[in-house]
Formats: sequence, C-alpha cells, structure tokens
Amino acid sequence: MPNFAIKPAPIVGLPIAGRTDLFPVRRVYCIGRNYAAHAIEMGHDPDREPPFFFQKNPDNLDPSGRFPYPPNSNDVHHEMELAVMLKSGGTDIALGDAMDHVFGYALCLDMTRRDLQGVAKKMGRPWEIGKAFEHSAPVGPIHPAETTGAMDQGRIALTVNGQLRQEGDLNQMIWKVPEMISYLSQYFTLAPGDVILSGTPAGVGPVAKGDEMELSIEGLGNMTVTVV
Ligand code: MN
Repeated sequence: MPNFAIKPAPIVGLPIAGRTDLFPVRRVYCIGRNYAAHAIEMGHDPDREPPFFFQKNPDNLDPSGRFPYPPNSNDVHHEMELAVMLKSGGTDIALGDAMDHVFGYALCLDMTRRDLQGVAKKMGRPWEIGKAFEHSAPVGPIHPAETTGAMDQGRIALTVNGQLRQEGDLNQMIWKVPEMISYLSQYFTLAPGDVILSGTPAGVGPVAKGDEMELSIEGLGNMTVTVV
C-alpha cells in the first residue's frame, strides 16, 4: 500500500443480485443517440453514423434508489438505459469476442441537465456539466450474464408516477452491445470494472422533486427511484 499524501477516494462498489460481494467500478462510458426514435425526438438523423461516447464519473453511479435533484438546472430529464458491466477488457477486441468480456447487466438512468446540455451543444462545448454531475446515474443491482443471457432483446420502459414515459425494445439499439465494446476498445483500453450505458429509447422528459420513476427491463426486473 503506497503512502498517499491525502486519503484516497474509496472504490465505488455496486451490489450484485443474490450475492454479497460488490462490483468495483473503474470507468463509465455512455453512448449517445443509440435508438432511432430518440435520435429523431432530439432533432437528429437516425442514420447509422459512427457511434459517439461521453463519460460519467464512477461515483455518479448510485444504487440507493434516491435521486437528489441537482443544482443549477430547471430541466432535468430521465433517460432509461441498459448498463453493461465488464469483467475484463483490452484493446482492439474482435466483435466475436466482445461478449466474453461482459460480467453482467443492470437497470440504469442517465439523468441529464437538459438545459445545460443544450447550451453546451449550441456552444460546441463538452457535455460534462449536463451529464456527469453527482448521483446522475441511479443504478439497480447487477445481474450476472450467466443468469440473464445476452440481453439483446426485451422490453425497456420507464414510468413516472405510474404513467408510461419511455418504452422500447433492446433489439432497437442502433449499435449493439458487442459492437459498442469492440468500437470503444479501438479508442480506449477497456478493463475490468468498466461500465457502458447503452443509450435511451424515445420518450425522455423532465422530472420534479417527489416523482417516482419505475425502471424496468425484461429479465432484470424493476426498480423505483424517487426524486428528492
Ligand atoms: Mn443517455
């Protein structure tokens, strides 16, 4: 153990369904516009252009079921997503090998300060201020891939206070899970503990304090996240 000048930050550990050990998070990659219907609702062409990614911080992942409404925004949106957790990594991962690196899957939200993201887009600035804020990625327990299978299809949905807001199918992803892993590995060295948020179906919209969001993906169950 090296002698650190100040106390190092703790490693972020996420719960695993049915187990007591935790999944240690290294990095969080997020893909943009990965469902055609969402690309269209955001004013973009849904054609299959090369994917693009941004990052959140490991400690933005929050399994508590509570989402504190962040400061400096009046337009915070939900984006319901499938999170993919990696148990191994590398560079230039072949498409056919990509799924061997998957540890498991979880329900996740890519909460977004849409007003600040909009300003950033307009000014040609990076998105972190709109995307990578505290508690911005509520996440459910991780379901190991041995129990779920490949998670390449199935209903993905989000309700707010019982009203359906987002609905789609994992099979509508423009870039599939193995394609995202292979593509990312051409630009970054992927490693155990990396997390990939795989994009959101159509129907993103604002939340307010007191709202109850119900996340669901077929095969991963449900989770309630309360805006506080
Ligand atoms: Mn997203």
